[in-house]
Amino acid sequence: MVFERLEKGGADKLNHFLQSAKLKYDAAMTDPVKLPGMSFAELFQPKIVKSALHLKLTQSFSEYVRKQFKSSKIHQLLEFPILFLGSSPTKIPALYSMLNYADMKLGTWYPMGGMYKIIEGFERVVRSYGVDFHTSAPVEAITVNAGNAKALKLQNDTVATDLIIAGADYHHVERNLLPSDLWQYTDKYWDSRDMAPSAIIMYLGVKGEIPGLLHHNLFFDAPYQAHLDTINIAKDWPENPLFYVSNPSKTDPSVAPAGYENLFVLIPTTPGLLNEYDNLKEYYLKIVVGRINKQTGADISDRIVVKKFFMPSDFVSDYNAFKGNAYGLANTLMQTHFLKPRMKHKKINNLFFTGQLTVPGPGVPPTILSGEIVASLIK
Ligand SMILES: Cc1cc2nc3c(=O)[nH]c(=O)nc-3n(C[C@H](O)[C@H](O)[C@H](O)COP(=O)(O)OP(=O)(O)OC[C@H]3O[C@@H](n4cnc5c(N)ncnc54)[C@H](O)[C@@H]3O)c2cc1C
Repeated sequence: MVFERLEKGGADKLNHFLQSAKLKYDAAMTDPVKLPGMSFAELFQPKIVKSALHLKLTQSFSEYVRKQFKSSKIHQLLEFPILFLGSSPTKIPALYSMLNYADMKLGTWYPMGGMYKIIEGFERVVRSYGVDFHTSAPVEAITVNAGNAKALKLQNDTVATDLIIAGADYHHVERNLLPSDLWQYTDKYWDSRDMAPSAIIMYLGVKGEIPGLLHHNLFFDAPYQAHLDTINIAKDWPENPLFYVSNPSKTDPSVAPAGYENLFVLIPTTPGLLNEYDNLKEYYLKIVVGRINKQTGADISDRIVVKKFFMPSDFVSDYNAFKGNAYGLANTLMQTHFLKPRMKHKKINNLFFTGQLTVPGPGVPPTILSGEIVASLIK
């Protein structure tokens, strides 16, 4: 209905768009996404070459969407998820319309109790296989001898190792945990990577209800191109950003006490924004509160009882994230598959990498797959 209202014939065009997005999703998610990306040659399998024909790797997302829809509002709706892939829709391949298919057709799934329930599920499964966890024990160095990783050095302990799979930020592991003669990639390499965006995050506890909000809310009530340009061109703090508000207490009573709402606010920013200035957080909070008020009629300004921010600099201090990235490398064609940082270290036989900076890429499902891929590589 929304697409028909925005453009005559929009509903049919959307159906067509999503059918073709499904082909891309099926083609990408069956075989290519499971490859370890060790070499270009991996791609030369008849099944993969055939499926690549559906992927539209050479056409940009923006060109693809504009060929099919005239309405600029529809362009924005379809391009918004692309913003999280880390580059302008003019540089992201049309392949990523599969994200629209995943959003609109497969739907958005929410684990009751929140995302951490997924972590707890993993923990239960791997503990049943006899795995031990050492938390709050950052690795400070990897000891290597004659091309083999021998030990992990922790603050007050050293753990001998047969094999290491590093799941922390790739750049951090390589640059901060290994001696410089074992670095695989140069400064020039890292500086020339297109990183996916970082984010300003707010966690708000609000007294009373906010009837106008749904569980998922996208605030498109600001100029889209201006925000995109501050991320991709100006590389500065957005003045009047678009943002996403999750209100999980709408569907999950366990995430807020009765009579309160739980809000998670996400403002995409360019990576590397570490120059926070005074009142920056309050500036964005005021914008978010004002726009929620304008769209829903609910003034929450005096009802916020819990307020916590997580800024791009926190991605660096808490997670050692290169340039404070929140989602790894941007999904451009030149940073895909064998062009990503390698899963197996070139100079250390028993050091492997997994996670959002190596194959297949950023996002919860791809990083879970990344674990599966590295497991099969080791076997
Ligand atoms: C706000 C936000 C919203 C997102 N939304 C979505 C979404 O809707 N859908 C989606 O698919 N994806 C989403 N993502 C992306 C997704 O969460 C990530 O791509 C994914 O979690 C990355 O997993 P990872 O295992 O590579 O890294 P991480 O989950 O970052 O794990 C790396 C771990 O390594 C630890 N570490 C770092 N240094 C060391 C050290 N020296 N020693 C020991 N441990 C160390 C870190 O503390 C961290 O726990 C979102 C991300 C953010 C930040």
